[in-house]
Amino acid sequence: MTPYDAENIFAKILRGEIPCHRIFEDERTLAFMDIMPRSPGHCLAIPKGPARNLLDCDPEMLSHLITKVQRIAKAAKQALGADGVTLQQFSESAGGQEVFHLHFHILPRWEGMVLQRHPAPRAEMATLAEQAEKIRAALASL
Ligand code: 5GP
Repeated sequence: MTPYDAENIFAKILRGEIPCHRIFEDERTLAFMDIMPRSPGHCLAIPKGPARNLLDCDPEMLSHLITKVQRIAKAAKQALGADGVTLQQFSESAGGQEVFHLHFHILPRWEGMVLQRHPAPRAEMATLAEQAEKIRAALASL
């Protein structure tokens, strides 16, 4: 398997070299808004440790991450007033992966509303900031 590349975009976000709209952080996890959201409130949860994708992730790190994904999914659904949530995780180019640091997509969903096609347009920064704030508040209330 191709080794982890520490120059990927999410590694740069983790090192603070690229900004993001943070919604959750602990010692092992970071979650932030996707800049090209395919649904309102589309956010991403990543481990802080080096994992290219699901296939090489340390199982203990993955276990911690998925419990955070569940909390963020609940919070995003509540914060955005969604009817449901879709999770996506792509591994390797053939699996649809473009950024090679493990991430789960958390996509709030509404009855009858289709997901934007990839690549979706870049979101307004103010919109992402507002949604991130709502999700942070919902997380605090869970
Ligand atoms: P993948 O296809 O690898 O699962 O998805 C990568 C995701 O990262 C895409 O949904 C894309 O919109 C998002 N993305 C790419 N570059 C950036 C960035 O610089 N910041 C943020 N917040 N998201 C990004």
